[in-house]
Amino acid sequence: MIDVEGLKKVVGEDWVITQRDQMQTYLYDETTPHQRLEPAENVVVVKPATAEEVSEILKLANRDKTPVYPRGAGTGLVCGAMPTQDGIVVSMERFDKVEEVDRENLMVVAEAGVTLAQLLEAVDEADLLFPPHPGDEGAQVGGMIAANAGGSRAVKYGVVRQYVKGLEVVLPTGEIVTMGGKLLKNNTGLDLMHLLIDSEGILGIITKATMRLYPKFSGTATLVVSYDDRHKAINTVPKILQSGVIPMAIEYVDHHVITMSAENLGMKWPANNGTGHLILILAGANEDDVYFQAETMSEVCQANGAVDVLIAERQQEQADILKIRSEVYSAMKAHISGDSDITVPPATLGKMLDSLDEIAKKYDTKISTIAHAGDGNFHPYMLKELAERGLMEEVKEEIYKAAIALGGVVTGEHGVGKIRLKYLDYMLDAKQEELMRGIKTLFDPNNILNPGTAIR
Ligand SMILES: Cc1cc2nc3c(=O)[nH]c(=O)nc-3n(C[C@H](O)[C@H](O)[C@H](O)COP(=O)(O)OP(=O)(O)OC[C@H]3O[C@@H](n4cnc5c(N)ncnc54)[C@H](O)[C@@H]3O)c2cc1C
Repeated sequence: MIDVEGLKKVVGEDWVITQRDQMQTYLYDETTPHQRLEPAENVVVVKPATAEEVSEILKLANRDKTPVYPRGAGTGLVCGAMPTQDGIVVSMERFDKVEEVDRENLMVVAEAGVTLAQLLEAVDEADLLFPPHPGDEGAQVGGMIAANAGGSRAVKYGVVRQYVKGLEVVLPTGEIVTMGGKLLKNNTGLDLMHLLIDSEGILGIITKATMRLYPKFSGTATLVVSYDDRHKAINTVPKILQSGVIPMAIEYVDHHVITMSAENLGMKWPANNGTGHLILILAGANEDDVYFQAETMSEVCQANGAVDVLIAERQQEQADILKIRSEVYSAMKAHISGDSDITVPPATLGKMLDSLDEIAKKYDTKISTIAHAGDGNFHPYMLKELAERGLMEEVKEEIYKAAIALGGVVTGEHGVGKIRLKYLDYMLDAKQEELMRGIKTLFDPNNILNPGTAIR
């Protein structure tokens, strides 16, 4: 039984949705339909505006042992925010203020419902930079932290985890706690803040975050390097990482995939040659520095079989390339049954691509791929026809096993969510799972927060 009247008292009647037809957008995320689970029948959506309101909602739910599903923008790809048992969806959309961009400490303080687009704009206005860029700029700060999002620009400065310095969190039992602050070092006790990062909404509801910023780079350039064989492109990546120049982004895209994304956006992909491309985003102290980096990258790529190197220097050109890359999934979603998120040690990228080709051959299918290649993170796409032939799960398992055999994992950035629980066996031993369950029980004795997510 969901205490709807109690919820209305906490947030006000206008911020509680009980009508099914008005809550459709809160019941799903961006997981492909073939992999998606079914939402529960009896769901109430609540939209609090303060940490105190979140606290009251959680106290009420904990009293009644009602499941609670924290929801950001719903751009997740593993059903993490989906309510799969009767319960309460807590939408964070009203936590939409960037409270402070602190130029002195190079920190931003933002509420959890602030979108990546809003955050980037506020930080840009202050002439500063927030490098992480998961593909959908609608994603919220809380969702990005709960998922430890990665994205394209993580090679040099890391994924979202490396930016989070402070959190305000409401625990499943209702206490509001703050962790960390505008601090670059903090060794006080066990690091609960980092436990909350990537906790996929099972340990607490994040209401506010303090994150690190960087000064804007004086010079940037984006290289699109074309290859007529994707193996050559992927095999270049370890050479780039070993060259001494560290790009902000080293992305791999199949040509037919990236041109589909451009067409979907009504834009034009700038490179015509090749069957696959590396996209390198370079940032430096000044133009000479960027020029040196671009020259070094061109040499490394050409020595490894590149057929063309295109350099974009104008801001708009660079932004367009990033946009087309970021929106690949939106274009592919209609054509695929499933995607995966495997990550392998960077030096084994080539072997992983060999395995993808072997698996494709074995199942007489095509496995297109994009990759945050500098992070060893592939997103292979399984075509719809595989699901139609009843082979999607089998192919996915083969891909996972190949990644594990190379010392990899089945998820590098999208998380376990609710759809990858069965693959935990591939990665965790019984003791690790027991420890994770113990931590969950300590935070959430009644298992009300996002049950059935991230851990078993
Ligand atoms: C086109 C596209 C491109 C993408 N590209 C990338 C990419 O490059 N890299 C990448 O890492 N991801 C990518 N993603 C996945 C997704 O954008 C990220 O996982 C993002 O971090 C999710 O944020 P969200 O606000 O949409 O969270 P949601 O989908 O709403 O939720 C994700 C998880 O976080 C939990 N959660 C949400 N808000 C809170 C909160 N305030 N407190 C506690 N828990 C919370 C939810 O319960 C859920 O488990 C992409 C998705 C799309 C659609």
